[in-house]
Amino acid sequence: MQRREQRVVEQLRGRRALLLRRFNEHRARAAAHTKEIGDPADQARDELERGIDQVLMELEQRELERLLDAEQKLHDEDPNTCRRCGREIDPRRLAARPESLLCVDCAGEAERQGVH
Ligand SMILES: [Zn+2]
Repeated sequence: MQRREQRVVEQLRGRRALLLRRFNEHRARAAAHTKEIGDPADQARDELERGIDQVLMELEQRELERLLDAEQKLHDEDPNTCRRCGREIDPRRLAARPESLLCVDCAGEAERQGVH
């Protein structure tokens, strides 16, 4: 693996570790809420917080999957080419978003189509 790719993989791993930690925190907090039985106001607040944790966990999980996917791609394929059209991805885009799998054009199109 080349040096640039290695750096990207390290960045991805760092973000994944961070996400995983946040995910585990939310999960622990959600579990803690379930055990506590307080007065109705507390329960309502817990309910709300649990809902928020649930949403955050889902977002984090999706992001984690995306990062894993990008890491896998770095091992499997040429990380500089778009997964969709096979053209080279702008290096500036890769520098800003190392996990990019698509070139700007394809990413814009995927966004419009609601495909991610
Ligand atoms: Zn493309």
